[in-house]
Amino acid sequence: MQDFVHTSEAVAATRSRLEKAAQLQTLFSRLSDADLARAARYLSGRAFPLSDQRVLNVGYANVRDALLTLVPTPDEAYSHLVVRLADMGDVAYELLGRRPDPPPTLTLADLADLFDQLAAASGAKARGKLLTATLARATALEAKYIVKIVMGELRIGLQEGQVEDAIARAYGVRVEAVQWANMLLGDLGETAVLARQGRLGEAHMRLFHPIKFMLASPAASPDDVAKQMPSGFLVEDKFDGVRAQVHKQGGRLAIFSRTLDEVAHRYPELHAPLLALPGEFILDGEILGWRDGRAIPFTEFQARLGRKTVDAELLASLPVAFMAFDLLYQDGDVLLEQPLRERRRCLETLLAVFPHPYSLILSQAAEFQAATALPAAFDAARERGNEGLMVKEPGSTYKPGRRGKEWLKVKRPLATLDVVVTGVEWGNGKRRHVLSDYTFAVQDDEGQLLEVGKAYSGLTDAEIAELTAWFQAHTIEDYGKFRRVEPLIVLEVAFDNVQPSDRHPSGYALRFPRIVRVGTDKLPADIDTLDTVRALAGVR
Ligand code: AMP
Repeated sequence: MQDFVHTSEAVAATRSRLEKAAQLQTLFSRLSDADLARAARYLSGRAFPLSDQRVLNVGYANVRDALLTLVPTPDEAYSHLVVRLADMGDVAYELLGRRPDPPPTLTLADLADLFDQLAAASGAKARGKLLTATLARATALEAKYIVKIVMGELRIGLQEGQVEDAIARAYGVRVEAVQWANMLLGDLGETAVLARQGRLGEAHMRLFHPIKFMLASPAASPDDVAKQMPSGFLVEDKFDGVRAQVHKQGGRLAIFSRTLDEVAHRYPELHAPLLALPGEFILDGEILGWRDGRAIPFTEFQARLGRKTVDAELLASLPVAFMAFDLLYQDGDVLLEQPLRERRRCLETLLAVFPHPYSLILSQAAEFQAATALPAAFDAARERGNEGLMVKEPGSTYKPGRRGKEWLKVKRPLATLDVVVTGVEWGNGKRRHVLSDYTFAVQDDEGQLLEVGKAYSGLTDAEIAELTAWFQAHTIEDYGKFRRVEPLIVLEVAFDNVQPSDRHPSGYALRFPRIVRVGTDKLPADIDTLDTVRALAGVR
């Protein structure tokens, strides 16, 4: 555990990717197989592998109680610390640093035990006790990392990709081979051990862990599409629901959301039709409100997303359908490396066995050669009640977690961008008591956030009230009128155009941005990039 925390500190303080990899390599070389597996998982900020859907259920209150039991502190002083540091791991480090460190006896195996027990414990009280007992034995630095992992604060300084990179370098294998095995297994720990043993090739697809979704970039115009895909493209409707990935094997079913959570219990009406399909598979698609053969507008369907329990009344008033548009795996074959055209052919055959189910639908795709046909296709999609078009390169492979140019989304009249809120301001007039003005950012290749604009229109009063409470609880620095906040709220913004500007660090500014939606099913890591902004500035 000492080695692990000291390496984590060193890595967090290092900017160079190579240097980070070298530090990790040294750590890996000192660990047993079991500890290597644990370290690889924890370094990427996860207590459990993706393939393990257990959750720790530890909240702010548990951590607070544990810390204050160990180092009694007046409420006000504690609150100041939380606001100042804005990271519970750092709060733990600061508070526990006020008592002498116990001798370092904790091991990575102890940590794994703690996580198992937390996941199995019923009730906040039991979890609080377990956490307190472990933190009592931890040095301040160990506590910092335990709390970071427990709270899911993925700011350990490493993204999963960087850990994959370090594993590849440590064991002299290609990073693509590490990524592939990790994608199949859903476990960076097991992947690291296979890499060490020279057995990466033995990894086989394991179902029931989410594979990251392939994403789309906005297309500015039909000309833009023609430029990207000169030799033709597949066109589908862009459905306005929530992304979902279905895993089925035998009588077992799982549905993963864009945030990689298992959500099958929210959609009971989809279980029977999906289980009735033959064989084992992973489907990619969209869940949407569906009534009388037509999509229910997202604003109406949203009411169902917010509900914890799905009762008969809700099932009747807001029924859903699964619109399948991709097939990633079928009966032992991983299809990701197959071209889209081939994946579609398999998908059509799979769904053909079950031709007219009410709640399981094949997304229709047409192959076009010329972009001149796009405006009419767009209008037809809108007529059908859908949001616009998705244009896909027929020869493209499925790239998990990537937002590339092989899938383009066409939403006229305006392109939109997914951005993350980095700063908020109190409004004016009747909005002076709410945080209603949002400064937002896109990311560069390194994941660094760069601000591109500020928006204060498009949300309802209820949404603003809810966001105000959230931002107050997630303020990093409070400057009075302006607050810097944790970059976790994703917005979809529309705008008139993009212009070069020295007002923002990105070098660009969006003109007349307005908020189209709070992206509740999107992760901050999935926001649009500076390259996209640059491209939009160029083509407009
Ligand atoms: P956006 O949410 O605007 O970034 O658009 C990307 C999302 O569109 C994807 O993540 C899917 O949830 C959704 N989508 C809707 N229809 C399709 C489709 N036919 N193919 C792929 N994605 C789609």
